[in-house]
Amino acid sequence: MNNNAELYKDLDRILLTREEIRAKVQELGARITADYQGKKPVLVCILKGASVFFADLIREIELPLTLDFMAISSYGSATKTSGVVRILKDLDNDILDKDVIIVEDIVDSGITLSYLRKILVQRGARSLRIATLLDKPARRKVEDLHVDYMCFDIPDAFVVGYGLDYDQTYRNLPDIGVLSPKIYEK
Ligand code: 5GP
Repeated sequence: MNNNAELYKDLDRILLTREEIRAKVQELGARITADYQGKKPVLVCILKGASVFFADLIREIELPLTLDFMAISSYGSATKTSGVVRILKDLDNDILDKDVIIVEDIVDSGITLSYLRKILVQRGARSLRIATLLDKPARRKVEDLHVDYMCFDIPDAFVVGYGLDYDQTYRNLPDIGVLSPKIYEK
């Protein structure tokens, strides 16, 4: 714990500690380093939820690489997906013939990533892989979504911290916790 006591009191429990997260992110960075030898991948951060994971992950990849950022609409301030995906901020650079890795915070229904994968493939990426910190396989609605790199399988609960928010808050918690339902049910 740190002195974010105000935020921590809204959690039912800590699901993943910063130490557990750090170890997995290091492991994933090493895997990507091995898989992309001789290449210069473009790492695409899906704002804002993946920003903390992204910042840690890129520093664990020992390769030349470039960064880009995309923002898409997902939940707003509710906790269930609407199925509507909208690009709020597009990539700055062309990805034609590039090896792209989409970096996402969490795959839930899979609707967001399935849509993103389609549009980035249409833009001519040479290869496209998905790296996610968290996966909630129990909630998947899209059958054919292949997640290439994943750090943690988690149960069906609404989580915050390490970049993940509820109503734009809690992103700065260094650990990931289950938000108490009384916060979003009130
Ligand atoms: P999907 O399209 O896969 O249903 O939704 C993915 C997006 O929903 C994620 O990028 C994230 O913004 C949001 N999301 C899904 N589950 C959670 C959760 O447990 N906590 C938070 N904070 N966001 C979630």
